[in-house]
Amino acid sequence: MLSASEASKPIRILVITGGHDYNKDEFNNMLSSLAPEITYQIAELPSAFKMFRPDNRNKYDVLVFYHMWQTISEEQTKVFADCISQGKPLVVLHHSICAYDNWPEYWNIIGGKYFHKETTFKGKVYQPCSYIHDLHFNVKITNPKNPVTKGLQDFEIFDETYKGYYVEDGVTPLLTTNEPSSTPIIGWTKTYGKARVVVLQSGHDVPTFENPSFRKLLKQAIEYVYSGK
Ligand SMILES: [Zn+2]
Repeated sequence: MLSASEASKPIRILVITGGHDYNKDEFNNMLSSLAPEITYQIAELPSAFKMFRPDNRNKYDVLVFYHMWQTISEEQTKVFADCISQGKPLVVLHHSICAYDNWPEYWNIIGGKYFHKETTFKGKVYQPCSYIHDLHFNVKITNPKNPVTKGLQDFEIFDETYKGYYVEDGVTPLLTTNEPSSTPIIGWTKTYGKARVVVLQSGHDVPTFENPSFRKLLKQAIEYVYSGK
């Protein structure tokens, strides 16, 4: 738990982007709206790789991924994974589940992976995943007592679904849907090394950026991963 003085401290989030377009103004409006104590800066890959280095890790408190980057060098994989395993909390949004087709440790970090091609992982063969844009569907809260989903009730969202993606055994599901074009688990939490990680599949475009339930989820996800530090 945070003490009173820690609770009033700003939570500085670093949003990693790159590799996928998005509506920046509306996305930034969402980030600004979360809470007065949550501040943000955006860093775009590939130049954002430097922010994972030890000398830059004290410049932010929580990583938020909204990138779909694919290329990474051997040296970058180590700095990237170490940053998180050594304790930098992480919230992963939407197309960041689709990043790094050729770096399986990333799939272990986030506990999920959208496969663009047939892929064998941990002895199982996955077919290419699929997506559908612009669907209204129901989001079910699995445990209203979880800190990420507390105060939320099941809600409807207008977003893109992904189907067939890998979800790691042993994650704690936070959100599910019965929408047939989606994998059933659409939000989860796990740890990677010393860091808490929350993954939210939603977040394609403006209707979700403006969805009050999604904003509350994102705020509480950031607070939850941060409070595990
Ligand atoms: Zn999308």
